[in-house]
Amino acid sequence: MKFRLFVLLSLLIGVLAAKSIIELTAMQSKKEDVLNYHLPPLPYAYNALEPYIDARTMEIHYTKHHQGYVNKLNKALENYPELQKKTVKALLQSLSSLPEAIRTAVRHNGGGDFNHSLFWTIMCKDGGGEPKGELAAAIKKYFGSFEIFKKEFSEQARTVFGSGWTWLASKPDGTLFVTSTSGHDSPVMDGNIPLLVIDVWEHAYYLKYQYKRPDFIDAWWHVVNWDNVANYYREVLNHFSS
Ligand code: MN
Repeated sequence: MKFRLFVLLSLLIGVLAAKSIIELTAMQSKKEDVLNYHLPPLPYAYNALEPYIDARTMEIHYTKHHQGYVNKLNKALENYPELQKKTVKALLQSLSSLPEAIRTAVRHNGGGDFNHSLFWTIMCKDGGGEPKGELAAAIKKYFGSFEIFKKEFSEQARTVFGSGWTWLASKPDGTLFVTSTSGHDSPVMDGNIPLLVIDVWEHAYYLKYQYKRPDFIDAWWHVVNWDNVANYYREVLNHFSS
């Protein structure tokens, strides 16, 4: 009898302990989800974009540069639990309302995180060629032809002064345009929607291309993931028509 009681009590204690461990773990992971920004998974291997973008550049770019921006964004917001609940995009769209003490850090590091997160997704192995469907039609409508668009985009990317990015972006009504930004600024800061982007910071190409940014740009067209770019444009159109 005593033994049974002992077994029952042990079981009860075991269950309670397990329950509190599970609850604690859940609380911790919830806290982490709310409080921290994370590096998104890279959708392919470091060497997937060879020979156009080398594996070593991809690895350093993703694990050091991008991770660095995420770390610094977390650091900038460590004393602002309410702001940590916002998405990076929402932070970038409300820079002027952020406390002055962290505004520049969020602009640089939140921008760095946002831009790189998009950049990885608009590239893929066996990419390149030309877009199809409604994106192709819109490029023709707003630029005249794919070749004219490509020339304008490449020219802008070549002439970004210092570190920056060149974008194909859409206004909320679906109007396409090409623009460049310096540092880690982006079209989302003006309420527009980025569809395609090239990183022309030297860290994006220096190991393989050194000072030859135009060669990097020419190579990069071979890895553009037009399916994803077209999907981003579809979301803009869906949002506008609803
Ligand atoms: Mn970069």
